[in-house]
Amino acid sequence: MDFELKEGEKTVRKRAREFAEKEVLPRAAEIDRRGKFPLDIAKRMAELNLFGLPFPIKYGGASATLMSYMVMIEELSRGSASIGCLGAAGLISLFPIHYAGSEEQKERYLRPLCEGAKLGAFGLTEPKAGSDPTSLETTAVHDGDEYLLNGRKAYITNTAVADIYVVFAYTDKSEKKEGMSAFIVEKGTKGFSFANIEDMMGMRGCSVGGLVFTDCRVPEENRLGNEGDGLRIALATLDRDRIAMGSIGVGIAQACLDASREYAKERKQFSQPIAKFQAVQFMLADMAMEVEAARLLTYKAAYLADKGEQFTKEASMAKLYASEVAQRAAINAVQIHGGYGCTKSCPAERYYRDAKILSIAVGTSEIQRMVIAREELK
Ligand SMILES: Cc1cc2nc3c(=O)[nH]c(=O)nc-3n(C[C@H](O)[C@H](O)[C@H](O)COP(=O)(O)OP(=O)(O)OC[C@H]3O[C@@H](n4cnc5c(N)ncnc54)[C@H](O)[C@@H]3O)c2cc1C
Repeated sequence: MDFELKEGEKTVRKRAREFAEKEVLPRAAEIDRRGKFPLDIAKRMAELNLFGLPFPIKYGGASATLMSYMVMIEELSRGSASIGCLGAAGLISLFPIHYAGSEEQKERYLRPLCEGAKLGAFGLTEPKAGSDPTSLETTAVHDGDEYLLNGRKAYITNTAVADIYVVFAYTDKSEKKEGMSAFIVEKGTKGFSFANIEDMMGMRGCSVGGLVFTDCRVPEENRLGNEGDGLRIALATLDRDRIAMGSIGVGIAQACLDASREYAKERKQFSQPIAKFQAVQFMLADMAMEVEAARLLTYKAAYLADKGEQFTKEASMAKLYASEVAQRAAINAVQIHGGYGCTKSCPAERYYRDAKILSIAVGTSEIQRMVIAREELK
C-alpha cells in the first residue's frame, strides 16, 4: 500500500496551496461577506489551467489524475470553501461532456470549459425533485431537429454566471429511469432564463439559484449521448462530485485545525495558553485524527476512480464522513475560539456555516447512508 501522492499530484498540491494562500485566503472573508461570485478568482483559476486538470490535453486539459483535482479542491477549500465549490462545479459541468459527448461537442464545449474561457453548470435538481432525481418535471419534446425544453431547476451552482449548462430532462417519462436525457444548453438561448438566486448561509461566494426553460429550443446535436442516457450520465457525474465534496470537507476541517491550533497557543487564560488545558488538547486531537481519516477515505475513492474500478460506495463514504468531520471540526473551532469564535471577524464562524452545506449538496447525508447500505447489501 502506497500512501504517497505521485510527483505530479504533489506539484498540483504545491501550486494550489500557493494560489490558495496568496490569492484566495486573503479574500475569503470578503467573498463570504459580499456573497458575490468572485469572477476574478475564477479567471485566475482558468489561467492556471485548474478547471481542465483531469481532462485530456487534446481538449485543453492537462490529462492529470482525478486525485490531482481532488487535492487541488482540498487546498482551495482550506482558503475558502466557496472557491473549492467553484472547483467542484467545474468538475460536474465538464465531466458529463467528457463522459458522453461526441468529438464535435468536446471540441465546441469541453475545450472552452477546460481552458476556462467559459464556465459550466450542472442542472439536475428541481423544486420538486431533489433526493429523488427520477421525479424530474422538466421535459424535452423532440420537434424536427430540435428539442423543446420546459421546466425549472433549483439550487444550481454557477447559476447565472455560467455560459454552458448540462441540463437533465425527460424525453419519455413513460420509460421512467430510461426516459431521461441530457442536453447542453448555452446561455442566451431563447426561452432560457434564471430565477431565485439564493442568499445562502454558507459557501456564499457560489452563485446558487434556479434555471427556467420556457419553450426553449435546443438543437438535437446538443443532446449528450442517446435519448435515455440521462440518468446514467447524472449518476456517473455525482459519484465524482461526491469525492469533490469530501475534498471540500477535508479542506474546511484542516483549516479549522490550523486556526484552532494557532489560537490555542496564543490565547492565555489562568496565566497560561489555553493549549495547556487537556480539554482543549483533546478537541485538537480529535480534529487531527478525523481530518486525517477523512483525507484517507477521500483519497481512496479518487484512487479507485483513477484505476477505473468501482468507487460508488467509497465516494459516498468520503462525502458523508468528510462532511461530518468538517462540521464537528467547525463546532470545535468555534468552541476553542470562545467569544471571538462567535463573531464574524473569526474565520471559525464561516467554517461553521460552510461545513453545514456539505451535508446537503450533491445528495444529503441520509442519501449517502442509503447508497452505502445498498452497496453493502448487494
Ligand atoms: C450549495 C448547494 C449547491 C447545489 N448545487 C447543485 C448543482 O449544481 N446542481 C444540482 O443539480 N443540484 C445542486 N444542489 C441541489 C442538491 O443536490 C439538493 O439540494 C440535494 O440533493 C437535496 O435535495 P432537496 O434540497 O430537494 O432536499 P429533499 O430531497 O427534499 O430532502 C429533504 C430532507 O428529506 C430527506 N430525505 C429525502 N428522501 C429521503 C429518503 N429516501 N430517506 C431518508 N431521508 C430522505 C433528506 O435527506 C433531507 O434531510 C445544490 C444544493 C446546495 C445546497
